[in-house]
Amino acid sequence: MAAPKRRKSAAVAILNATDDIEDFSKSETLAIRSSLLRWYDENSRDLPWRTPSAGAGSLLMPVKVDEEQRAYVVWVSEVMLQQTRVPTVMGYFNRWMEKWPTIRDLSSASLEEVNEMWAGLGYYRRARFLLEGAKSIVDEGKFPRSASELLCVKGIGDYTAGAIASIAFNEVVPVVDGNVVRVITRLRAISANPKEAGTVKLIWKLTRQLVDPSRPGDFNQALMELGATLCSSTNPSCSKCPVSDHCQAFLLSKKSQKLKVTDYPTKVAKNKQRHDFAAVSVVEIAELDEQILNDNGLKHVFLLVKRPENGLLAGLWEFPSVILMKEV
Ligand code: SF4
Repeated sequence: MAAPKRRKSAAVAILNATDDIEDFSKSETLAIRSSLLRWYDENSRDLPWRTPSAGAGSLLMPVKVDEEQRAYVVWVSEVMLQQTRVPTVMGYFNRWMEKWPTIRDLSSASLEEVNEMWAGLGYYRRARFLLEGAKSIVDEGKFPRSASELLCVKGIGDYTAGAIASIAFNEVVPVVDGNVVRVITRLRAISANPKEAGTVKLIWKLTRQLVDPSRPGDFNQALMELGATLCSSTNPSCSKCPVSDHCQAFLLSKKSQKLKVTDYPTKVAKNKQRHDFAAVSVVEIAELDEQILNDNGLKHVFLLVKRPENGLLAGLWEFPSVILMKEV
């Protein structure tokens, strides 16, 4: 008697959705590399942190920079660009580079100064890690060059390590950000949940196959640039895309009206935002010596408290407050 067939679990079904995705063939890889780099050379945006090899120098980035200086510039810009749009970052980046043009300058800054410069960008932990990382690199006396060494610096994760190692030091390693996830899931028509560990691993593997060994930094920037410009989330310009001949989502959408390239990557429900409620006291110190006010050019003085050095918004100043209710 034949054994009864067992139903596949949901987990197995998702695994198969990524198992079925083929690697890029040799010819596809070569064609994608050359089309994308040609497009990038002609169309890359002129951004202040772009490296000279990308053909986009600026007043703040001299045409000839040493690799460690380039690594610092890439590091600052990539950290600022996490969770923040390019137009917002440009002003912050220029002000930052004017104040701390080298990693050595940054390493002697205080946390207060760094937080003040970062004010408005949010996720202040990024600024603190930049400062702590700069201090540790200057103490070591050498900028780590490989992605694996960079991962040992506090606050540097896979994405930033790949960006610095490939753009500044020409290491042949991939970089995967949200833009790259979008491009790769469309090129390979990957319908599995892009947040699942198995899908993340697959996207890194596929991106690694594509990286051009002769221009790894430019290739990574080109892939991110494609995702940030033509291959947008809601309104991609496939007719202008340099790699449309190799894009399975585009080819499928031409065969069936039911399928759209924007079906990739699969939309995942966002975590519900948590709301906390706090009572905040704004205390003005009314009876302060006239002389102290005048000497400091002040009209009003308020009571502020410093947040603990560990935890959310560490080291920032705020009005005294007490949490009344936390949503779970
Ligand atoms: S063809 Fe369209 S969907 Fe595919 S990579 Fe290009 S812009 Fe993105």
